[in-house]
Amino acid sequence: MSARYDLHTHSLRSDGTSTPAEIAVEAAALGLAGFALTDHDTADGWDEAREAAAVAGIDFLPGMEITTKHDWRSTHLLAYGLDPQHPGLQAALERVRTSRHDRAREMVTLLAVDFDLDWESVLLANAGRTVGRPHLADALVDAGFYADRSIAFAEALHPGSPYYVPTYAVDTVDAIRLVRDAGGVPVLAHPAASRMRRPVDLGAIEEFVSAGLWGIELDHPENRDDWLPPLTELAESQGLVITGASDYHGTGKPNRLGERTSDEAVWQAIREQVAVTP
Ligand code: AMP
Ligand code: ZN
Ligand code: FE
Ligand code: FE
Repeated sequence: MSARYDLHTHSLRSDGTSTPAEIAVEAAALGLAGFALTDHDTADGWDEAREAAAVAGIDFLPGMEITTKHDWRSTHLLAYGLDPQHPGLQAALERVRTSRHDRAREMVTLLAVDFDLDWESVLLANAGRTVGRPHLADALVDAGFYADRSIAFAEALHPGSPYYVPTYAVDTVDAIRLVRDAGGVPVLAHPAASRMRRPVDLGAIEEFVSAGLWGIELDHPENRDDWLPPLTELAESQGLVITGASDYHGTGKPNRLGERTSDEAVWQAIREQVAVTP
């Protein structure tokens, strides 16, 4: 069998449930040749993942998933091998994380009207992580209101819920330019995810390509198959590389590590152009 690589995983440094080192061990046990750690808006897990991957004898690619928006629509941008010290990038990520923190506190305030939740304990339980709705889901699950994260999302945390508060996101075009400027490789994450009302617009993707987008994550467990044909056609005409990955969140989501993967050619093509080598 040819070498397979999972290019999209989340650890406890954001909203996954495995440590970066545990993901490396899990990936090796599954027979994956390598993986990228792509926690939300942080590079904090890279060193731990890199060391554990070396011990486990598999390849590692540092990455992150940046919270961005285009025309008021939430858009996730994967970025590989970027320099985390880049000042513009650091400032943008800092602003995103601060907003995520403030937004989580506001959502807890709204939730606390109907649920017995308290901000201090949510904060304490998630110190050092990029905070997101999954952590609010965990608090609701721990307090006995819901059975798991997915039910908490469906019932109380979705964007239409009265407890929902939006969070700051970097403009996608600006984020793509920042990633390139920081020596990284930008890939549009799950552009046909079923949770969206419609896939990312083709015109928007053309703008992203002009700004430096390199790849598009068309092979993702949450992409809707019936939305893919025009995106696949556009990827081909624009010369975008199609990537595959699981978006693993440990036990926090149904996505299984390695359920979607990229091949050696994609992996090497990213490694050859990144600023931060594994
Ligand atoms: P946020 O970052 O606060 O906007 O929350 C979105 C994050 O929650 C994304 O990383 C999703 O992968 C994750 N998420 C979305 N739906 C679910 C779900 N049903 N169960 C667990 N995690 C989810
Ligand atoms: Zn996540
Ligand atoms: Fe995402
Ligand atoms: Fe993700």
